[in-house]
Amino acid sequence: MTPASSTEVRGTLWTPIPDEDPAGTATSVPSLAGYHIVTDAAQVPAIDEGHLYNYLLAGNGVFLQAQRPELSVLLRIAPALVRGLPALRSRLRVRFPRVPRPIVREMLNVAADAARDPNGGLEVLLTLAFQKGRWQLMQPPQEQTLSSVQLASEADRATVLEALIDVHSHPFPLRAFSGTDHESDRGAFRFAVLIADPAGAPSLHVRLCVYGAFLEVPPSLLFELPGELGGTDA
Ligand SMILES: [Zn+2]
Repeated sequence: MTPASSTEVRGTLWTPIPDEDPAGTATSVPSLAGYHIVTDAAQVPAIDEGHLYNYLLAGNGVFLQAQRPELSVLLRIAPALVRGLPALRSRLRVRFPRVPRPIVREMLNVAADAARDPNGGLEVLLTLAFQKGRWQLMQPPQEQTLSSVQLASEADRATVLEALIDVHSHPFPLRAFSGTDHESDRGAFRFAVLIADPAGAPSLHVRLCVYGAFLEVPPSLLFELPGELGGTDA
């Protein structure tokens, strides 16, 4: 097993913040955050019991801090010069080995089979959970169409939401997460993976979702990539 590793965070951060919020969605989210001012960069506050994440004000901006057994993240979500406070560095610490190549191939094959469905290409939803030292690929019960996939009512929703990696496919060459994807990922703290055009020229796209902030990361952070995977921004 690969030991825990720490990665400096580089990538494109995106936080969908509307200027106005007529639907009141921002205020309808219960406050599960802690709020701290960092006065010592070597002593980042812990996440208190009952909180899912922290907002930290540091000398170089506002950071989001979250952790789960498989990873810890400190992510600058807004740059700002705050005089008198120490600067922090964004970082991502992972405590799992990369998903082995045979599982990555299986994942791509399942997506390709769905895309070749005789009734028209179908999306597919898969989860990858890291449990007891190994990766498990699962396909929960789902309702699939050309442009959407949803969990079936009988699916074990909690298990799906707990998985560290959420994978879905676009059976066509749309190589970006869609507006629907943003909606379904905005409350999550996990990785989201998109398999685009699995039956044509497959590519993998990965982002880290941290309670509404999205950070694009290279697929090689999570996966042992098969050599035949062309078009992947690894
Ligand atoms: Zn999608």
